[in-house]
Amino acid sequence: RLYNEVIELKGNIRVYCRCRPLSLEEIAKGSSCVVDFDPAHDTELRIICTDSSKKQFKFDHIFGHKDDQDAVFKETLPIVKSVLDGFNVCIFAYGQTGSGKTFTMEGIPENRGVNYRALDELFKISGQRSSLMRYEFYVSMLEVYNEKIRDLLADSPDQLSKRLDIKQASDGTQDVPGLLEPQVGSIDEVWEILTNGGRNRSVGSTNANELSSRSHSLVRVTIKGESFVDGQKFTSRLWLVDLAGSERLGKIEVEGERLKESQFINKSLSALGDVISALASKNPHIPYRNSKLTHLLQSSLGGDCKTLMFAQISPSSADLGETLCSLNFASRVR
Ligand code: ADP
Ligand code: MG
Repeated sequence: RLYNEVIELKGNIRVYCRCRPLSLEEIAKGSSCVVDFDPAHDTELRIICTDSSKKQFKFDHIFGHKDDQDAVFKETLPIVKSVLDGFNVCIFAYGQTGSGKTFTMEGIPENRGVNYRALDELFKISGQRSSLMRYEFYVSMLEVYNEKIRDLLADSPDQLSKRLDIKQASDGTQDVPGLLEPQVGSIDEVWEILTNGGRNRSVGSTNANELSSRSHSLVRVTIKGESFVDGQKFTSRLWLVDLAGSERLGKIEVEGERLKESQFINKSLSALGDVISALASKNPHIPYRNSKLTHLLQSSLGGDCKTLMFAQISPSSADLGETLCSLNFASRVR
């Protein structure tokens, strides 16, 4: 590697669990908290089931309601930084709608999440290393909805409705020909681009949040590095992925467009689970081609790439079933 900084990484795949606080609405409805955090270990939690039995889960780190964005980013930074040393990195937020995926990744303006903090940090570190390394940053933003890829940085309706495809580039990595990839030089510049891109997300007839929860939203940062010491060059990628909601549909919704969406979401999320668990168990066959999402991320998942999954959960007794599903999913990929 070009820049030999010691990074403490326990392995290439890490799973963090983050539980949001109970909301005022949930408290008003009489929901209780079903998550029992272990004060002695920030790697274990128990879920109190309806029959009062407890199910224990272990992760690389658990963040509870007392852990703010700073605490979460502190544990994320080492992985983020490794892209400046040439590693490919994928960070995912997985969980049911309302569990805090967007809060963790994007955050809110007064309380930024991983995306902003990661980019901010990359620019800062590249500045500190400016006597040793030259870095260039490029950013793309895309959406995978019903197995179709859309370029969220497109600025005309024509471009926006264009269907993009995944092609294998000459160096064997996956690429999306035609995807816009502006070069960016500062956090303010990249944040403005991403904020504008966010407005292009699929908006449904009912409300925006509902539809955004049915598509995967991906930010791709491409880093080109060159060492002044030995002239070595590399290209690496950081993917920041806010996945579609993992919830199963209710009976009434299981028809028409919703059924199709739901089947595509299930397919891509289970394909992602299959890929990560195949990687974790060192299985020689990794089924990347089973969904657009995993195919797109193929060159950034596996090998010496680093993967971090946030398993987002709700603490509410009303969400117990979905919480158990998410924790089981996340335990499977670990
Ligand atoms: P998702 O993207 O999974 O659908 P959101 O990120 O939109 O969920 O979160 C749902 C609501 O809960 C939002 O109002 C968000 O601000 C709030 N929220 C989520 N996580 C936290 C947290 N850790 N602390 C405080 N509020 C949170
Ligand atoms: Mg969201």
